[in-house]
Amino acid sequence: MLSRGCAIVQPGRSRKAGLDERAKIKDPMRHDLAEMELPELEQALEAMGHARFHGRQLFQWVHKRGVVDFADMTDLGRDLRSGLAASFRIVTPELVRKETSSDGTVKFLLRLEDGQLIESVFIPDTPANTFCLSTQVGCAMKCGFCLTGKMGIIRNLTAGEIAGQVRVLVRELHMLQARFNIVLMGMGEPLHNYDAVMKALRILADEHGLAVNPRRVTLSTVGVLPNLERLATEPLMPNLAISLHATTEEQRDLLVPINRKYGLKELLDACRRFPVKRRERITFEYVMLKDVNDSDEDARRLVRLLHGIKAKVNLLPLNEAAGIPYERPSDARVNRFASIVAERGVTVSVRKSRGRDIRAACGQLITESTRQQSPGQRLASLIATS
Ligand code: SAH
Repeated sequence: MLSRGCAIVQPGRSRKAGLDERAKIKDPMRHDLAEMELPELEQALEAMGHARFHGRQLFQWVHKRGVVDFADMTDLGRDLRSGLAASFRIVTPELVRKETSSDGTVKFLLRLEDGQLIESVFIPDTPANTFCLSTQVGCAMKCGFCLTGKMGIIRNLTAGEIAGQVRVLVRELHMLQARFNIVLMGMGEPLHNYDAVMKALRILADEHGLAVNPRRVTLSTVGVLPNLERLATEPLMPNLAISLHATTEEQRDLLVPINRKYGLKELLDACRRFPVKRRERITFEYVMLKDVNDSDEDARRLVRLLHGIKAKVNLLPLNEAAGIPYERPSDARVNRFASIVAERGVTVSVRKSRGRDIRAACGQLITESTRQQSPGQRLASLIATS
């Protein structure tokens, strides 16, 4: 069983091995350099008696060139390099496994410094190359159709761990020079880990690093309202996707439990106030569950709810999984729903599910050991074998 706060133990690995992982945390006194924004790094170097401009060099080595060994940073003097190695460490998520789907999607299983496991996904040509990142180990939101939600929350990721996923994917996919988009749609609820997420976006956006323009980043959220309001004031603002999934308060209370705290009406009011740039729109994600939220009436109600918001709708036919008590509607139903929305003047798309054969699709990110141990999974396999 996955006990709270305990490292996920890989199948075949003993609990002791999980503990050993944590013991591996090297010298926490040495600050993680990959976790620092450039101004922080410059300040730290100055405080150590070094010139500020070395901060920029270091930041470029780590983030732009993917070099994480001080010894390889050849434009820094030997003494400086050994001084840095004594004061800093550079933490990078460790690649455990890479699985490639028949459609080209690649799922990366990564181990963090304390042994926790997360997943990141590369989705090629959608139309851009896209990295799907995790923001937490597990998720606290418990949406009724999402496997990650079944894990519960184990911990927040740090900014270095969020941005570090990009460094690993860029390295593994040989994409240092390539353009890519980022979606925060992996494990976790980004607005439930606000400070680390925003810090990671600043690290990623820095022109001395990977220079990922925030306009190429989409943050997907169930709508943790106080943090959605904060997001509205950020200088670096990603695109916004709202996991709406329902058209009445009652329905959303059931599917997206945080709705009981921050209701549908308040969420949509916050979206109405949200600063959306010219020619941009808020994406409303709508998971489609057979006979639950997929009727013609739901489609018409959805359009009415979005009135006055610069919105587009992205329909997500459910990715079914053992332990998820819902079914995917037929393609005909999805198309009918989409055409009702489109006829009423709202742009709508249907998300093609990528990487389903390797369980890399939306809501399917759950680290292996937990997948085997989730109560839903056990129940499903019991039913299947009984
Ligand atoms: N916590 C964020 C990111 C989650 S994943 C959020 O909720 O927005 C991105 C999207 O996948 C969300 O809209 C989520 O509701 C959806 N999703 C989760 N499980 C799914 C499933 N089984 N099938 C289809 N989409 C799913």
